[in-house]
Amino acid sequence: MPSIDALADRLSTYLGNDQVNLVRRAYFYAEQAHDGQRRRSGEAYVTHPLAVANILADMHMDHQSLMAAMLHDVIEDTGIAKEALQAQFGETVAELVDGVSKLTQMNFETKAEAQAENFQKMAMAMARDIRVILVKLADRLHNMRTLEVLSGEKRRRIAKETLEIYAPIANRLGMHAIRIEFEDLGFKAMHPMRSARINQAVKRARGNRKEIVNKIEESLSHCLAIDGIQGEVSGRQKHLYGIYKKMRGKRRAFNEIMDVYAFRIIVDKVDTCYRVLGAVHNLYKPLPGRFKDYIAIPKANGYQSLHTTLFGMHGVPIEIQIRTREMEEMANNGIAAHWLYKSSGDEQPKGTHARARQWVKGVLEMQQRAGNSLEFIESVKIDLFPDEVYVFTPKGRIMELPKGSTAVDFAYAVHTDVGNSCIACRINRRLAPLSEPLQSGSTVEIVSAPGARPNPAWLNFVVTGKARTHIRHALKLQRRSESISLGERLLNKVLNGFDSALDKIPAERVKAMLAEYRLELIEDLLEDIGLGNRMAYVVARRLLGEGEQLPGAEGPLAIRGTEGLVLSYAKCCTPIPGDPIVGHLSAGKGMVVHLDNCRNISEIRHNPEKCIQLSWAKDVTGEFNVELRVELEHQRGLIALLASSVNAADGNIEKISMDERDGRISVVQLVVSVHDRVHLARVIKKLRALTGVIRITRMRA
Ligand code: MN
Repeated sequence: MPSIDALADRLSTYLGNDQVNLVRRAYFYAEQAHDGQRRRSGEAYVTHPLAVANILADMHMDHQSLMAAMLHDVIEDTGIAKEALQAQFGETVAELVDGVSKLTQMNFETKAEAQAENFQKMAMAMARDIRVILVKLADRLHNMRTLEVLSGEKRRRIAKETLEIYAPIANRLGMHAIRIEFEDLGFKAMHPMRSARINQAVKRARGNRKEIVNKIEESLSHCLAIDGIQGEVSGRQKHLYGIYKKMRGKRRAFNEIMDVYAFRIIVDKVDTCYRVLGAVHNLYKPLPGRFKDYIAIPKANGYQSLHTTLFGMHGVPIEIQIRTREMEEMANNGIAAHWLYKSSGDEQPKGTHARARQWVKGVLEMQQRAGNSLEFIESVKIDLFPDEVYVFTPKGRIMELPKGSTAVDFAYAVHTDVGNSCIACRINRRLAPLSEPLQSGSTVEIVSAPGARPNPAWLNFVVTGKARTHIRHALKLQRRSESISLGERLLNKVLNGFDSALDKIPAERVKAMLAEYRLELIEDLLEDIGLGNRMAYVVARRLLGEGEQLPGAEGPLAIRGTEGLVLSYAKCCTPIPGDPIVGHLSAGKGMVVHLDNCRNISEIRHNPEKCIQLSWAKDVTGEFNVELRVELEHQRGLIALLASSVNAADGNIEKISMDERDGRISVVQLVVSVHDRVHLARVIKKLRALTGVIRITRMRA
């Protein structure tokens, strides 16, 4: 039974005393937190985190990883909060534990198998620190080693998840030894009969072939010796799951696979690898087309080796791998090799991210030398320094989005219609702002409403091109239809003044005028009028014929409040229903409504080509902002007093700011939304009733 003392002894071979003591402290904390909990095997629960830490100690991981290993199930299983761990062991360790817990909570089970690769990426993206993945792999390894005690169903679920998610992650990180163990343990749990049968057959075959194996090994060693090459020849066993996959995937019989004899030759330097290759090709004839130079062109995870297949005596195929000691270590440990071999005493201990980066950099350099960095970027860089976030749809589908994406980007990625009709979102079942950047692993649900329209403000935060394009397009369509309808009303208003209307104008006349303006449709003309690019007055005169008299007292155009994007209310004078108003048409922007006496338009006020008389429709709808300036004696809680007065009059405060003029008088600026002047009067009356109020002014430019 491993103990914390035994572990501490091992750790002291590569960690300082202080660090070993921190690991001890984490162990005792975990022991207490899990007190009374037992593993399915009956052992005290703390034996599990201790075993996980032991696996990481084999990899020479740093003290923070080991502490996180000790504490990795504390948040998940004992209800102790991350904050408590942070107070005890610092932010880094708490973050690591939290990251491992999040991976543990991820439910791979119900999701489609086809998504396995996305899950691997998602897991990687979720872990901002690569050590989270390493602790999780060690955790999973110990669970796989102790799988027998679980019920059949649970065992299969964990095994399946290991084969589909964790073995490939280990593979991506170049951790061959762990990957092989995952695969064999997973295979055994998923298919105990097949695994046992293959295991038996392998043992039998090995017994039968012992003589041949020894002979080949001898002749290989002999051949190296003749050329004066130092090398270590060893027989290589295929792992059970590898054999099984070959039998299934390549439809080979067991004997066909086992008829191959596999050896590995390990040498001191790269140069020697090629000399060994020459020597063995001289010994036996190589099988054409089977030679692979993974030294010059490494695999995406950094694996390097020479592979060749030879015709041995009596035509027996012999597979040979030739590599250096360093390549062998990298092949077995991948990213973890940087903790295992690069941290010996004299060297400065490097930060973990620096180590992960170093590994990635190494792989990148190898790939660049080999001239295929594309594959690298696809499979390694993305995993460690993700530019993507991976989120779930409510049905469990995974969507890949660029980093910084929001629920609106997500909605458009699901479907254009979903984006266009989106009004709100839930992230992990909680309502969240549409602008919130999404985190990997979240479940995102879009709330949509029929008839809803994209909001121009979304353009400020969406990051995907798809969302941007579709929002722009939808807004353009919306703007066009609103412009057309405003244009039609403007034109008809002028025509009415001449006792005419658009539908009374002969069709040929309209046609002739469209031709003159080089427009195709009457809608194009109306849109132009609505946008302020063409004056309704001028168009009307031409439609009627130049001879007509200027209209007399035509009625003003009524504003309904539903005109949409082509009508806006001037910020300088903030008109509200009931105020005398005038419309200013500015090219391309549509109509801006000003107060009749607004100073900003006083110069063009009577120019019929730029300004148009307006009135408020009886049924005008909407809320309108006005700015009030309230001077009052300073008193405690005056903001609350003002707010409740406005509220009591059914008004709504949009903005509030205060500057104190002297110790006694305060000046508060309020932006209040109201329905009309009558409503505003009610609000002001309520405010005036407050004690200490000196003056209330409605602000205008
Ligand atoms: Mn665990």
